[in-house]
Parts: sequence; C-alpha cells; structure tokens
Amino acid sequence: MKSPTGSNSRVLVVEDEPSIRDSVVYALESEGFAVDWAGAGHVALEKARSREYQLIVLDVGLPDINGFDVCRELRMCSQVPVIFLTARASEVDRVVGLELGADDYVTKPFSPRELSARVRANIRRSQMSVASVGAAAAVAGSAPFAVDEERWVIAYFEKTLELSRYEFRLLAALIAKPGRVYTRAQLMDIAWEEPDASMERTVDTHIKSVRAKLKTVRSDLEPIVTHRGIGYSMREIW
Ligand code: CA
Repeated sequence: MKSPTGSNSRVLVVEDEPSIRDSVVYALESEGFAVDWAGAGHVALEKARSREYQLIVLDVGLPDINGFDVCRELRMCSQVPVIFLTARASEVDRVVGLELGADDYVTKPFSPRELSARVRANIRRSQMSVASVGAAAAVAGSAPFAVDEERWVIAYFEKTLELSRYEFRLLAALIAKPGRVYTRAQLMDIAWEEPDASMERTVDTHIKSVRAKLKTVRSDLEPIVTHRGIGYSMREIW
C-alpha cells in the first residue's frame, strides 16, 4: 500500500493513443489506484454509467466524441472529478473557462508521475469537500464555522470571511476535522495545485493571514492551534 488515497480509489483513463494510455495506466497502478481505461468517448460514458469512479482522466482529442462533449454528458449525472489531457493552447483556454466543470488539466507532453500526483491531490480534495460539508452540518450547533464549498465561502460567527483560494482550502481542511493535527506538507498538498516541499513556510504565512482575519471577528479567540515542529489543527472544544 503505497498510498492510502490510491488504495481505495478507482480511476478511469480515457485516451486513444495506446503509448500515452499505457504509461498513464502503469503510473496510476503503481501508485495503488485501481484503473480502468477506454479508448473512445462512447466507451468512457458507458463505463462511467455502470460503475463508480473517484476520478476520470479525460483526453480532449478522442476519435468519436471529443472530451469536452464527454464531460458535458458526464456532468448531467455525476460530479466525479475530471482531469483533462490537452494538446493545444486553444483547448486549455476552453478547459480553463470551466464552463465544462473540469477540476484540473494537464498539457501534453507530461510526465506520468506528475499526472499521478495531480490525480491524488484532486481525489483528496474532493473527499475533503464531502467531509467538510458533513462536518459543518454535524457541528453546526457548537462550532462557529459554516462552510459553503459551492460558493467558496466560510462564515465565522455568522460573519463572512474574505479569504483567498488558498486560505479557504486551508481553513476548510482544518474545520473538517477538529483536533486533527496536519503537518505543513499535508496542508500544502490539500491547498495547493502544485505542492512544493521548499514552500512549506508559505503555509505559515497563509495561516497567519487567516488568523488575522478570524481575529477581526473575535479578537478574544484563537481557533487555530499551533503544534510546534509539526503543524496546525482546529480546536475541538468551544
Ligand atoms: Ca487523443
């Protein structure tokens, strides 16, 4: 078991070019993911309808239906995270437009290892979203946070916080599991698209800024606990 995320997750790889497909499937399987593949859009849709996937890697240039239309179809019945494989800058523009509800994209040529890391990060993030919504609902009576993942909004004592994207993800992760201590590396992995170990101190900077924002609402409370030499957690008892 190389990766706790990978060991429970099934990924569908949709790519018609056998050499690319094989290297992606191999990289994901070595990370512990269960992998299915499809070489055409209609096969991908069939598979996605008949079994549950935690993530779909979707090539844009497929022989039958293009990846954008496959994604559009998928979105009618599923919120599964999608990472697009794109070959051209013009495709990137459309993916980034997010009209399609893509979660991430990778441009060709890419390293299969980099793609695996993105797959893992996206699955973790989507699991975190589900967990934090549940946690927020469960503790609504006692803890002062309300997380709205869809609107990227966190309220604290019913005041909406003005958070950057990274601050939002950091705070949402801490809120989702009160008392759980996260290392800087784990927080980096959760909140950043391209985690970089040499940047772990930026986690500190962002936590500092989140704390300052929380203080503007309640100067007498310190919800985020520092664990020296390890990282941070959200306080459990209010
Ligand atoms: Ca292709």
